[in-house]
Amino acid sequence: AQKLLEIRKLTAGFATEKGLLKATDGISLTVNKGQTVCIVGESGSGKSVTSLAIMRLIDYAGGMILEGSIDFHGQDLGKKTQEEMRGIRGNQIAMIFQDPMSSLNPVFTIGEQIAESLRLHQNKKDAEALKLAVDLIRLVGIPAPEIRAKQYPHELSGGMCQRVVIAIALACNPELLIADEPTTALDVTVQAQILDLLRKLQSELGMSILLITHDMGVAAEMADRIAVMYAGAIVEEGGVEEIFDHPSHPYTVGLLQSIPGFEGGRGGELYTISGTIPPIGQLPAGCRFHPRCPHAMDICRSEEPPDFMITGDHRTACWLFKDKPGSADTSREAKR
Ligand code: SF4
Ligand code: MG
Repeated sequence: AQKLLEIRKLTAGFATEKGLLKATDGISLTVNKGQTVCIVGESGSGKSVTSLAIMRLIDYAGGMILEGSIDFHGQDLGKKTQEEMRGIRGNQIAMIFQDPMSSLNPVFTIGEQIAESLRLHQNKKDAEALKLAVDLIRLVGIPAPEIRAKQYPHELSGGMCQRVVIAIALACNPELLIADEPTTALDVTVQAQILDLLRKLQSELGMSILLITHDMGVAAEMADRIAVMYAGAIVEEGGVEEIFDHPSHPYTVGLLQSIPGFEGGRGGELYTISGTIPPIGQLPAGCRFHPRCPHAMDICRSEEPPDFMITGDHRTACWLFKDKPGSADTSREAKR
């Protein structure tokens, strides 16, 4: 497989009066061509900061990249100027967010907004851009595209607006689409339709997707690989089957058990991991998960676990896997 994006030991954060706050703490992650990689975690885990760092939008949020690299086509995005990033953001990497309305301009028709993206990023002239905009509206599954093109965002439902946002992203012909909670603001039926659309577009257009979600169910449907993020670190990473069939990190096990109906779940009852993510800048010593972990040992309170390889491309940052590669038995876990 060909690497498209390779994040190495990325630490990104914010300078404050109290010093540097690390929102991501040495994370490493690879996205191959044509692959969907999901970053899963609760809010406050650092997953959105990761995407802002890749896009270098973190600069505008008062943050910065402190260490590590973000190789895209072998070039470190962390070393690009904002001028250079503008070219990359428009043309090679596109991003969609949770709330489609905040991405759309209320005073222009959706056709004009998609055409504008085509003019900017693909040098299309006015008439051709408008015609291609209609094609894109059709491609993202909106009925009566000629009529819709002349409408304003407020005339469309939330799900339709998110389709328009996806069309605008596609107008740049991106190799990588970063989608940060793209369906969280939508109701369940519409959510499934948007996920279907992303899958269809990916197989037709061959782009890679980095999907950020708090929802293990969404990750199960979409991901080739899953990275589980907790308090600024990736605590487990592997292929989707490995994560679901052989979860290893106790945090991943907890996330899976909180999915209603999941076989490792506690008899259908919704299990939630007690406690909350520590705020950035207030990490506990040792394993960052230890205050919430049902398996915490002495070493966990003093020493941070490194990544242990379970299989060739499945890793976990948990002391339980120091000497015994293999996976935690979630069914036994569930009966306890
Ligand atoms: Fe739990 Fe220790 Fe593993 Fe951390 S290292 S997840 S505290 S068992
Ligand atoms: Mg977020």
